[in-house]
Amino acid sequence: YKIKVGISACLLGQEVRFDGGHKRSSFCDRDLGAYFDYHPVCPEMAIGLGAPRAAIRLVKRNGEVRAEASNGSFDVTEKLIAFSEQKARQLDFISGYILCAKSPSCGMERVKLYGANNEGSAKEGIGLFAKALMEANPLLPVEEDGRLNDPILRENFVLRVFAYHDWQQLC
Ligand code: SF4
Repeated sequence: YKIKVGISACLLGQEVRFDGGHKRSSFCDRDLGAYFDYHPVCPEMAIGLGAPRAAIRLVKRNGEVRAEASNGSFDVTEKLIAFSEQKARQLDFISGYILCAKSPSCGMERVKLYGANNEGSAKEGIGLFAKALMEANPLLPVEEDGRLNDPILRENFVLRVFAYHDWQQLC
C-alpha cells in the first residue's frame, strides 16, 4: 500500500517543460516512489499549452500578479488560476505534494516576479498553481524538490505526509 502524493509532472521525467524537456528527480522518482503513489500534474500542459512553448513568467501589473509569456505573446493568468483552483479542490485524496522549485506555476516560494515595465525581478513570487494548492489545502504537507535533498527536511516531509495520511483516515 502506497500513500498518494501529488507531484509536478516534470519531476517524474515527463517531457512537459517549456523547452520540451523534464526535470526528473531520481530521488523523488526512485527513492520516494517506493513509498508514494504519485499523482502527477502539469498545470501548464493542463491548460492547453504544448511542449515546447514560450516560457511564462510572473509579472506584477497594477498590483496584480499575472502569468505572461516571456516573449509577450500570450497571457494565461485567468486560465491558469481557474484550472489551479478547481484542481486544488479535487486533490483532497492526496497526503502531500512535491512542487518543482522556481516555476511560475509550481514554485512554492522565491519565484521571480517581474516589474510591469521590465525593470527587473525580485524573488518574491509564488507559482499560481502552488498558491491555489496551499490555499485550498492549508494543512497539506508541501515541499519543493530541491529542499528534499536535505536529509532533515526530507525526513520531516515524509513524517508529515504519514501523519497527515493517518489524520485523513480518521476523518
Ligand atoms: Fe509543468 Fe509545473 Fe513542471 Fe512547469 S514546473 S513543467 S508547470 S509540472
